[in-house]
Amino acid sequence: MKTDGYICVWNECLKIIKDNISSDNFKTWFTPIKPIALQGSILTLQLPTLYYYEILEGNYLSLLKTAIRKILGQEGRLEYKILFAKDVGITLPPSNVVPVENPEKQPGIDAAPPGIATEIANPFVLPGLQKVKIESQLNPNLNFENFIEGECNRLARSAGLAIARDPGKTAFNPLFIYSPVGLGKTHLSHAIGLETKSIAKDVTVVYVTAEQFIQQYVEAAKSSNISDFINFYQLLDVLIIDDIQFLSGKGKTQEALFHIFNYLHQRNKQLIFASDKSPSEITGFDQRLLSRFKWGLSADLQVPDKQTRIKIIHNKLYINGISGISEEVIEYLANHVVNSVREIESAIIAILAQISFNKKTNITVDLAKQMIDKFVQSTTREMSIEFIQRVVCDYFRLPREMMCTSSRKRELVQARQIAMYFSRKFTNSSMSEIGAQSGKKDHATVLHSIRTVENCKKIDKNFKNSLDEIERLLKNS
Ligand code: ADP
Ligand code: MG
Repeated sequence: MKTDGYICVWNECLKIIKDNISSDNFKTWFTPIKPIALQGSILTLQLPTLYYYEILEGNYLSLLKTAIRKILGQEGRLEYKILFAKDVGITLPPSNVVPVENPEKQPGIDAAPPGIATEIANPFVLPGLQKVKIESQLNPNLNFENFIEGECNRLARSAGLAIARDPGKTAFNPLFIYSPVGLGKTHLSHAIGLETKSIAKDVTVVYVTAEQFIQQYVEAAKSSNISDFINFYQLLDVLIIDDIQFLSGKGKTQEALFHIFNYLHQRNKQLIFASDKSPSEITGFDQRLLSRFKWGLSADLQVPDKQTRIKIIHNKLYINGISGISEEVIEYLANHVVNSVREIESAIIAILAQISFNKKTNITVDLAKQMIDKFVQSTTREMSIEFIQRVVCDYFRLPREMMCTSSRKRELVQARQIAMYFSRKFTNSSMSEIGAQSGKKDHATVLHSIRTVENCKKIDKNFKNSLDEIERLLKNS
């Protein structure tokens, strides 16, 4: 069959249908239907709303069946894709579609849970067609394989993996993931959805952003289809809503979510929310919804530590096909791009641009520094011991190599002590680590050096001025 075969098939069906119903009904119920695919003897139609599906099923089932079989033979089947709003489509034909309830019958926000929905038969009662296919909206690149594990995300990540193995059945329902921007909430949400689907193909997962959810709700409300909207989400096994904080102050949408939540949770279906604030800090939410956010597990994602940053940098370089970047540059990036994974990505993209457009094959630390300054915004730098030693040596006009010798020259001893003092102040390194990088000094020596600097600072004004100046240089270099 040619690619446009489905259009021909549907046009032929329409001819038969047109001959058998009034032109008004034809116009109302059939002209808005769009054929979108033909696979073997399965024709897929896109319907504007779930309501169309009900009307077709209730009134035109046998006519459709006759038409399809006439054109495609006894094997002919139909599948539906339903567009609620621009972004979510579902392919129905289900044995388990929840009937649209009268909105009046929707439980009040505090009311008892809705009863078990009666099942309705597949509209075409044709065996082999009994699958609900729902567009998951999952991005295959945001998988667990690419989601680097670290102390910063261990809890949320393991909970996500447990959920994927057994959605709705763990204690983590809902899973509420929160963190500031750029730390992996969206990535992890997709990864859980993808993993769930790869373990059990027939599990129905939908990832939706709160903005899409609100937009769909608004559209549904405009066309008095709120029950369709709610029923669509009640079909799911796993519902993931990203950036749920955007529902703040949206009372009506929250109420719809409340019904969806209750319905799904009672049936052991999984809910996952991502938010920029914890359930305790988030505002503008109905108390009853808020308390439900806390029913399961709230897990935060933190800023990755240096080791994890290095792993992430390696992973991103690999994914982007960048090789040959020296460990020194990687270390530099890990030390200086510290706020979020999003920033690490910006740095990698800047490197990629240098390689691709400016044909720079040798990425040096200096170049990396320039790129970070230029392309990575709001970067507050975590200082490295090495950086501090360099700034201190520059200040005293000493060669940096001298920093790690055991020379007892007075000015060198003092520079070394000051570098140790700032290393303690501005890095997360332990005394032993600082000692190891300062000419193999032990913990006690580092401690003694820091105390000496602190004491001198109190009694010697010139010394204090020097310290202040070095601190200024450290912060602005
Ligand atoms: P958030 O939703 O919290 O703002 P994202 O999930 O959009 O953050 O993450 C920002 C970027 O960083 C994404 O491109 C994502 O792939 C990447 N990222 C975040 N965490 C990790 C991780 N642990 N390993 C690899 N990449 C990550
Ligand atoms: Mg996000």
